[in-house]
Amino acid sequence: MKRILVTGGAGFLGSHLCERLLSRGHEVLCVDNLFTGRKANIAHLLDNPYFEFMRHDVTFPLYVEVDEIYNLACPASPIHYQFDPVQTTKTSVIGAINMLGLAKRTKAKILQASTSEVYGDPQVHPQPESYRGCVNTLGIRACYDEGKRCAETLFFDYHRQHQVTIKVMRIFNTYGPRMHPNDGRVVSNFIMQALQGQDITIYGDGLQTRSFCYVDDLIEGMELLMNSRDEFTGPVNIGNPGEFTIKQLAEKVISLTHSSSQIIYQPLPQDDPMQRQPIIELAKQELNWQPKVVLEEGLKKTIAYFQQMIIKSK
Ligand code: NAD
Ligand code: UDP
Ligand code: UDP
Repeated sequence: MKRILVTGGAGFLGSHLCERLLSRGHEVLCVDNLFTGRKANIAHLLDNPYFEFMRHDVTFPLYVEVDEIYNLACPASPIHYQFDPVQTTKTSVIGAINMLGLAKRTKAKILQASTSEVYGDPQVHPQPESYRGCVNTLGIRACYDEGKRCAETLFFDYHRQHQVTIKVMRIFNTYGPRMHPNDGRVVSNFIMQALQGQDITIYGDGLQTRSFCYVDDLIEGMELLMNSRDEFTGPVNIGNPGEFTIKQLAEKVISLTHSSSQIIYQPLPQDDPMQRQPIIELAKQELNWQPKVVLEEGLKKTIAYFQQMIIKSK
């Protein structure tokens, strides 16, 4: 049994991870400031004697004794990370310094939830880990993208300078139950709109693409990466290579929900990437990982979750 710290553990991905680690017999310390996370995501874990929740902001130092750290703390949806952009950069950068300092002192292994956003609006398609990216340092997405890029730098410098064992995971768009219904991400938006008979809001012409990974696949990749050989640092892409236009996603959601919603078109936000698709050869080779859940199957499970949520709120 290991003592494992999950920062951002009350969020969408973090709560699934806490659940998975507990099911493996580990002790889990979930640290979260509840900015975008919710107690409801972890309510079912609070009775477990091996689970502990601590309300704490990772931009402040944290002194605990742990064997492993999964660093997920950071708002992930554009409306949330752009709400207080300075705090977003602080969370990624100062948060990484504090968690790396903690890893250094306790000799814990540490995994960083990085992102496909380090590639920005990519000029190379699909994206291999070797691609260095195309990020507008001055734009409204930079607080998130540059914060995550700097965090990767810090991870590699702590690794080289202080021999901290690191794992850097570049996560591509992930969806599933416990996404925040109002966080503005495309999958949750479209499903909520379709289920409530509201217009489906496509930004731009809907021809921009994304590749969507179901949460269970993602968490499996995360666990495999943490347990990979010590010398394997990443960065490694984890995502589903199935690429869809946003318009195709809207049509799929309408058809799966049997919704009467109409598609409407709204302006494309600044610096919105035109295309995104992971190359996952490295994950296949090193982790023997590849996603199993196809979009339609994952969407059905996510739709069922939001349906329940709407019923309960009535
Ligand atoms: P989320 O917003 O649901 O989870 C983030 C969690 O971090 C929330 O619970 C939030 O309250 C917490 N948090 C934010 N700032 C904090 C701070 N300063 N101190 C402590 N806790 C803080 O988002 P998610 O989708 O679960 O994302 C989890 C991680 O994965 C993030 O680091 C995100 O950047 C990364 N990621 C997610 C995706 C995706 O598609 N879901 C894609 C790429 C990367
Ligand atoms: N830190 C922490 N918990 C620990 C150890 C360190 O939060 O258990 C923080 C502390 O605030 C420190 C940062 O991590 O500023 C970086 O630690 P490091 O040892 O690298 O640097 P230093 O202590 O020399 O600033
Ligand atoms: N998007 C959209 N309608 C929405 C929400 C998002 O058309 O209601 C688009 C958005 O402009 C982007 C894509 O869907 O091109 C994915 O957006 P999301 O915020 O989910 O993730 P990210 O842009 O960070 O990949």
